[in-house]
Amino acid sequence: SAKAAGGNRIGAYTEADATRAGRRLKLEGALRGALERSELSLCYQPIYAASGRLRGFEALLRWNHPELGAISPAEFVPLAEQTGLIVPIGEWVIREACRIHREATAKGHADIVMAVNLSPVQLRVPSFVDGMLRLLEECGVPASGLELEITESIMLEAGERTIAALERLRQAGVRIALDDFGTGYASLTYLRELPIHTLKLDRSFIRPICHQHTERVIVESMIMLVHRLGLEVVAEGIEEEEQLALLREWGCDLLQGYLLGRPIEARGVGAHLPKLA
Ligand code: C2E
Ligand code: MG
Ligand code: MG
Ligand code: MG
Repeated sequence: SAKAAGGNRIGAYTEADATRAGRRLKLEGALRGALERSELSLCYQPIYAASGRLRGFEALLRWNHPELGAISPAEFVPLAEQTGLIVPIGEWVIREACRIHREATAKGHADIVMAVNLSPVQLRVPSFVDGMLRLLEECGVPASGLELEITESIMLEAGERTIAALERLRQAGVRIALDDFGTGYASLTYLRELPIHTLKLDRSFIRPICHQHTERVIVESMIMLVHRLGLEVVAEGIEEEEQLALLREWGCDLLQGYLLGRPIEARGVGAHLPKLA
């Protein structure tokens, strides 16, 4: 690692650092080929409209390492981004989400929306938008059946080219959501600059709404603000009935969280659908 290589700082290089760096290297190596070895899979977490109607699912990556077991996407997605592996992995994620959409359509749920998390690294590939639109056509999924979840980090290095790419996707009918809203900086600026349909209020705001006056006011006002801007809002991480009741009262459009449904494996999705029809 850079730290280990920094000769004069070797004294500050602790055993914990070495363990971390070792794990990182090991995971980085193992991530190459993880897709081919079928170690990656997707879980799907349902998202509901306030009416209780199923709106769709968010696809969430899972990695089952043969020795280390389940590795959190919070750990391996950054590695996949640093190595560029997120590009082929991300394409596979979109294909899989499209496959689920087709299956749902075959069962009569043609209007569900599959949400997929998008890394800034993917958007930086110059052919991304063309590839994406071709893929949708190939899979026979309407553009409106896909929602790309981006985070504010997309703006850090990007700027105009990224916004132009998102704009093209939006014009083609692909939906864009701003994920983890409220956790970054200058959030309101991005609301103005990004071509988005949906705003996802971060779990950290939802968690305290039953107990904390400030969060209550923030979330209720955010929902109003988002509506005034003509966007729709998703509340993430709903775990308690009381949170759900408040969010409904405040007119939150879409609801997601363990209370309503945990991420489920692909083969569970089909069984999930008829119940909700
Ligand atoms: P995210 O996109 O914000 O996804 C929501 C995360 O919150 C998921 O964690 C989900 O399992 C978790 N969650 C949902 N409801 C609840 C709840 O009620 N309580 C709690 N405590 N957690 C809840 P997960 O699956 O570990 O994913 C973590 C992050 O990894 C995602 O955050 C996303 O940023 C990233 N990620 C996952 N899949 C992909 C992918 O295919 N591509 C990219 N680029 N990133 C991904
Ligand atoms: Mg997300
Ligand atoms: Mg999120
Ligand atoms: Mg998150």
